[in-house]
Amino acid sequence: MEKPKLTIDEMAVFCKRKGFVYPSGEIYGGISGFYDFGHLGVELKNNIKKEWWNTFVQQRDDIVGIDGSIITHPMVWEASGHVDGFTDVIVDCRKCGSRFRGDQLIEDKHKVSTAGISLEDIKSSLKKDKIKCQKCGSELGDPKNFNLMFAINIGPVQTSSSVAFLRPETAQLIFSNFRLVQENARLKLPFGIAQIGKSFRNEISPRDFLFRMREFEQMEIEYFVHPEKQSECSFVDEVLDYEMNVYSADMQKNNKKMERMMIKDCLSKKIIKTRWHAYWLAVMHKWFVELGADPSHFRIRQHVKDELSHYALDTWDLEYEFPFGWKELQGLSNRTDFDLKQHMEHSKSDLSIFDEETKKKILPHVICEPSQGVERAFLVFMFDAYHYDKSRENVVLKLHPKLAPIKLGVFPLVSNKADIVAKARNVYNDLRREWTCTFDISGSIGRRYARGDETGIYACITIDFETLDDESVTVRSRDTTEQVRVKIKDLKEVLRKFMEGEKLGKLGKSVE
Ligand code: ATP
Repeated sequence: MEKPKLTIDEMAVFCKRKGFVYPSGEIYGGISGFYDFGHLGVELKNNIKKEWWNTFVQQRDDIVGIDGSIITHPMVWEASGHVDGFTDVIVDCRKCGSRFRGDQLIEDKHKVSTAGISLEDIKSSLKKDKIKCQKCGSELGDPKNFNLMFAINIGPVQTSSSVAFLRPETAQLIFSNFRLVQENARLKLPFGIAQIGKSFRNEISPRDFLFRMREFEQMEIEYFVHPEKQSECSFVDEVLDYEMNVYSADMQKNNKKMERMMIKDCLSKKIIKTRWHAYWLAVMHKWFVELGADPSHFRIRQHVKDELSHYALDTWDLEYEFPFGWKELQGLSNRTDFDLKQHMEHSKSDLSIFDEETKKKILPHVICEPSQGVERAFLVFMFDAYHYDKSRENVVLKLHPKLAPIKLGVFPLVSNKADIVAKARNVYNDLRREWTCTFDISGSIGRRYARGDETGIYACITIDFETLDDESVTVRSRDTTEQVRVKIKDLKEVLRKFMEGEKLGKLGKSVE
């Protein structure tokens, strides 16, 4: 299997150099776990969110969206279990005071996954393996649980009742708004509620650039089904022949390798328990692949027993082979009716819905909660798009045209001919109404093409002397460097077709 070409640190350097992502507050030394997005980064991030929202909300009849508040009623987090249980294990160095995540210390030492490891097991493993401070080599203190929620104070006076939390996930807002959304949208089971928004976790050791941050964004769906109809999934036929790398809990237990399997075989062999879970795993995987990600870098991995969260009946992660190993890209849990039950109990509000068929009130089950971090998706698309082209001697960022931050570059061939520059500006002004464009006048045309390649500009349009005679321009493909001559009056139609996947060579007169 082809290895990712860059390390995560090299990707961070590339993203900074090209204006995608900067360490936050860098002029003051930076602040660990926080990043700012530059112009290209915010365009890419917005495109990712737009594609996700379009695919999973706007193109579906069964899913609607919400946008909940970031600072949420503290009772939401009590009910969800976050106040008591949203913890990681922290270990401090007795000498230099450096802080570490207990499970990561063990993972770094043994290079094995420690998913689901308990506080007690971390304690004994640190002792048995005589693990020392990674910074100064001194003795480590006792491991203890650390709550990852950021507490804040609401209002001018700090009291015990003024404490609230920045939300550590978007999901709970979906549960607390469940009844209103269901009633207003007149949703009938099965249905989903989706949300995209910021989440905050006071990660003990943020690392690996955008992979583990303290402030990040999530794209989440809670998909609700009738409790007695959990095995019915009318969409599953769409994905039965879809293939993915599968790594079940049994495969992991028996030290087997992951297997490439079709969804229908995962279901008939009962590797994936419910059709809904299989369906959502396939459509989420497919979403990445259709936007240009390489399927050989993905697998679905089932949580082993010790790793399952207290609320989950079954969880599969969509994993990606990052330069630092296979890691969670998206979590897809079967959360049952745990959350609705908890919120009913704590709020004393009735969150059940009326079932027309049985004329009874029922509490729906979340058969699957696909939960995706925007920045982890950002990294995946960047890694899979990044190519170094030896013959061009520059990077070519082969982002899917739907994701490319800037779709088009418009270049006057020379900068000292006013009529060529003016013509190019006209073309640019017309194209930017429909697509993100850049107008680049500086340096040789080859240098401008290279700059475009490195930031993923999908096509470049050059206006030259010939344009003044015959109203034609050159269109150049980022991925193949192929060039065709096209009349300005046909340009938009040609670009539209090119961005939809047609070959550029078929859309204009080839330029030698
Ligand atoms: P991990 O095991 O990597 O800490 P998690 O299991 O805590 O992740 P979830 O609570 O399932 O993550 O969150 C859903 C998704 O949100 C993750 O799959 C990931 O894409 C994203 N995510 C979670 N924590 C972070 C973080 N600290 N930085 C960036 N993205 C994150």
